Amino acid sequence: MEIIKQEVLIIGGGLAGMRAAIETSSQLDTAIIAKIHPARSHSGAAQGGIAASLGNSQADSWEEHMFDTVKGGDYLGDQDSIEILVKEAPENIYELEHMGAAFSRTKDGKIAQRPFGGHSNPRACYAADLTGHILLHTLYEQLIKRKIKIYNEYYLLSLILRNGIAAGIVVYDIKSGELVIFQSKAIVFATGGYGRAFKITSNAHTNTGDGLSIIYRAGLPLEDLEFVQFHPTGLYKQGILVTEGARGEGGYLLNKDAERFMQKYAPKMMEIAPRDIVARAIQTEIDDGRGIDGKDYVHLDLRHLGGEKILELLPQIHELALMFSGVDCIKKPIPIQPTAHYSMGGIPVDINCRVIKDKNNTIVPGLFAAGECACVSVHGANRLGCNSLLEAVVFGRRAGKTVLNFIKEFNFIDLPDNCLDLAKEEINTFLTPRGTEILADIRDDLQYTMTKNCGVFRKEEELRTALETIKKLKTRFGFVKITDKSKIYNTELLEAIELGHILDFAEVIVVGAILRKESRGGHFRKDFPRRDDENWLKHTLAYYSKDGPTFDYKAVKITKFQPQERKY
Ligand SMILES: Cc1cc2nc3c(=O)[nH]c(=O)nc-3n(C[C@H](O)[C@H](O)[C@H](O)COP(=O)(O)OP(=O)(O)OC[C@H]3O[C@@H](n4cnc5c(N)ncnc54)[C@H](O)[C@@H]3O)c2cc1C
Repeated sequence: MEIIKQEVLIIGGGLAGMRAAIETSSQLDTAIIAKIHPARSHSGAAQGGIAASLGNSQADSWEEHMFDTVKGGDYLGDQDSIEILVKEAPENIYELEHMGAAFSRTKDGKIAQRPFGGHSNPRACYAADLTGHILLHTLYEQLIKRKIKIYNEYYLLSLILRNGIAAGIVVYDIKSGELVIFQSKAIVFATGGYGRAFKITSNAHTNTGDGLSIIYRAGLPLEDLEFVQFHPTGLYKQGILVTEGARGEGGYLLNKDAERFMQKYAPKMMEIAPRDIVARAIQTEIDDGRGIDGKDYVHLDLRHLGGEKILELLPQIHELALMFSGVDCIKKPIPIQPTAHYSMGGIPVDINCRVIKDKNNTIVPGLFAAGECACVSVHGANRLGCNSLLEAVVFGRRAGKTVLNFIKEFNFIDLPDNCLDLAKEEINTFLTPRGTEILADIRDDLQYTMTKNCGVFRKEEELRTALETIKKLKTRFGFVKITDKSKIYNTELLEAIELGHILDFAEVIVVGAILRKESRGGHFRKDFPRRDDENWLKHTLAYYSKDGPTFDYKAVKITKFQPQERKY
């Protein structure tokens, strides 16, 4: 079989992957591998903005941005990474601006900034409510300009390690159904998030956390996976996102009595308190019977902003609410409920985006990760809005720079003879007849149990129900029937592979949540409602074993801010 030699391979064409590729392509032969066209990556769905302490509408500083991020993350974030994130933010924004990103402007022509949850100053730079779309296309233009190779509709199946060093990958060409081996000096994972593990989610169908399970199956750890972010305002029933920018611009949250209930939960910051707090407030109102008409939703009211402001600053929200809920938000409040949104955890990396394999921060040579799939732990236990696009850009660029420094010392490594085995076996088992279980049923049951039993509020017995369900579903998955045996665009096969990924990392989320007997940021245990710094101020590392994940823990880096009680 042909082996394609490629100095640098970036897996994922979202914001993080593209930004890394732009950096490495200046000196090295670089290619992006992506399962969907890069411009369709989930980054393009980002609405509200990207954070930086530019201070364009009110004085601001990186120190304040750092403190807000540390506190927002409930003190689990690594403060050395957070310092890098916030200090490098302004130069990254100006760089994007100079590449041509059309940010919204203040009257005197500066980049406009809106308030956002948990940020103490207006810090979100935005392009109306289409920020991700604008940034993704700006970077895509740079890929074209630099003639960076893109392997479009190529699906990463497995990582090839030799003696603990990353040597290459095996990829499935979706168009032809053929397997392809790539040999590489540096491999950067930028495969994004995993919201599709949940029934109610803001995430695209492609967000199935493939990169996480591929790393986990290769024997490397996953960090802090129990920390899942539930965004407070998803459209009722589907979970499609209504940006926090809508509250940043002044939107109210109302219960069935038309009460602005955030007064009870975060009297100072009200609707723009951090997401974990607002999501819990909404869920409490619903659980206590104060949802609208006793149902599972509350109202987001924008009417007082006026039609002109809504259409200028939140045009996409106006359209989404109309299209998916039949609500014209100029005239009526929008029905919303919390929605699975973001992964705080991921592939553990150091501040230079090098993948690490244990609590001593031992690196895996040749392997890097950036963006949502990575855990450099800038978000700790709860991410602040607008810090994720920022992370993708800042650490995407950083990953690229690290590769440039690293690769000088490196040669291609010979691939082991059996490097295709894992991928071949995966494809063949699915294509060999083995039962009558229906793929969509298993996926529905999995997503249902994750939303119901591993959601905004968690409890031991519910988490145990989720774990038992996952184990049963894994057994059923062994008998799943794939009817399409064809090679070209076999999307049924791909969905099966993706479901296998979700089953693996969902188990890590749930077991990690059972073990973490405290409440911190996005992980709230009703049976352990307090943060417990004495026992749990540490990162989780989960490793694969055939009987389920095994765990180790890693110290949190605290530099400037000692943990305090978190009030808003
Ligand atoms: C609706 C929505 C709105 C958001 N709004 C904001 C916001 O306003 N501000 C903010 O800061 N953050 C926001 N976020 C979060 C932010 O958009 C993401 O965290 C960030 O864009 C992730 O970028 P990424 O490059 O890591 O991943 P993605 O943009 O998700 O890209 C992942 C890439 O990996 C590829 N890939 C995945 N698996 C494979 C595989 N097996 N083989 C090959 N390729 C693969 C995909 O094709 C894709 O190209 C939002 C998220 C959502 C869902």
